[in-house]
Amino acid sequence: MPCRFFNFLSFFWNVFLETIFPWHCCFCKKETQHYPLCQNCQESIIINHFFICPHCNKTIINLSENCCSRKESLDVLGYASSYQNPILKQVIHVFKYQRIVSLQKPLSNLMIKYLEKTKSILSLKQKDILLIPIPLHFKKQKQRNFNQSELLTKNIASYFNFPTDFNILIRIKNNPSQAKTQGFIKKKQNVKNIFEISKEKTHLIKNKWIILIDDVYTSGATMQEAAKVLKQNGAKKVIGLVLAKGVI
Ligand SMILES: [Zn+2]
Ligand SMILES: [Zn+2]
Repeated sequence: MPCRFFNFLSFFWNVFLETIFPWHCCFCKKETQHYPLCQNCQESIIINHFFICPHCNKTIINLSENCCSRKESLDVLGYASSYQNPILKQVIHVFKYQRIVSLQKPLSNLMIKYLEKTKSILSLKQKDILLIPIPLHFKKQKQRNFNQSELLTKNIASYFNFPTDFNILIRIKNNPSQAKTQGFIKKKQNVKNIFEISKEKTHLIKNKWIILIDDVYTSGATMQEAAKVLKQNGAKKVIGLVLAKGVI
């Protein structure tokens, strides 16, 4: 009974707060029931429906296809939408730098919808795949309090019941941000040897299809570097999965 009474009070307290401080969409600032991103803004983000070869940009229908994978460690890239979409671009920025953690839900939903649309990853056997987020260096994670890629991975994994591991891939160097590093060669140098695989966990990636998750893919240098160590440690295929793909 006291619990029910508390729920009753808490319901009215929330109604009171919402009346005094109505929720506003973090992009268009209109009042919304769908905080932090209103329905209209969510629907304005167009979901992609195919995978590509990260090297030559060719559409990949069959994930087993070897397009340019002899040249690159990352075999295939999937992206839920385009970084050129002004809503998505700003919302990702707000998520990461203003730390509106509740944005993880609508943003993860975009990736979930993308996977449902493309179906290819969903057709893989659960025992053959492992979802891994691109890790932050522990110092950066301490500053931000969270890793955006880890939150996206958690939501996707729990929705589809996919296996995941957050400690297998370790960022050993606190390199300067790729966004502040100019030019492809410098970006590649900036991420060289920044990742390591946890020695006790290498058996978990042997012959697995690794789904490597990040928020944004631009030059692809970070993802290629992570894919390189995963392949060196026995991963069968590495598929990049991001919220948004930008242009260099
Ligand atoms: Zn809005
Ligand atoms: Zn290719």
